[in-house]
This record gives sequence, structure tokens and C-alpha cells, in this order.
Amino acid sequence: ALMINSKCINCDMCDPECPNQAIYFGEKIYEIDPNKCTECVGHYDTPTCVSVCPIDCIKPDPNHKEDLDTLAEKYLRLTGQI
Ligand code: SF4
Ligand code: SF4
Repeated sequence: ALMINSKCINCDMCDPECPNQAIYFGEKIYEIDPNKCTECVGHYDTPTCVSVCPIDCIKPDPNHKEDLDTLAEKYLRLTGQI
């Protein structure tokens, strides 16, 4: 999963773009639910939130490192295919 760091300026660009509805407004800034973030695997070639973020504050979540197979399985689970 990816995570949004404290530099987030709450511009709201990423939230509507997430295909998994993993992004939400947290206590102070936008946050990513690691259970829903597939790093866009299953939807896009690259993380779309990273593409739209104007200040590049979305990075890999060090507490939720996942390989491609794990992310693909999460995608299948989220979309009810397994
Ligand atoms: Fe959503 Fe993709 Fe960003 Fe994860 S990487 S939060 S799935 S847009
Ligand atoms: Fe924050 Fe970047 Fe999302 Fe804007 S696009 S709300 S700066 S994480």
C-alpha cells in the first residue's frame, strides 16, 4: 500500500481518482486505507494518486510492503472475484 505523508496540502486531487475508494480525509490530512490500496494493481499501470498529486507526497507505506502477487490478490478480493 501507499501512504500520504505530512506534506499533503489537502488539495483533494487524489481522493476522487482512487479506483478502490481507499483515500479519505483523516484528522488533518488525506489518508490511505492500506486494506483497500492495491497500489492501483488491477486498474492502472501506475498509482494514479501519485500521478495527480501536485506535491509528490504519496509514498510507499513502510508498514505495508506488498509484492505484486499480494496486491493482485487484494484486487481480486476487493472486487469480489475470490
Ligand atoms: Fe488508490 Fe491507487 Fe492511490 Fe492506492 S495507489 S490509494 S489504489 S489511487
Ligand atoms: Fe494531499 Fe497530494 Fe492528495 Fe492533494 S493529491 S490531497 S496534496 S495527497
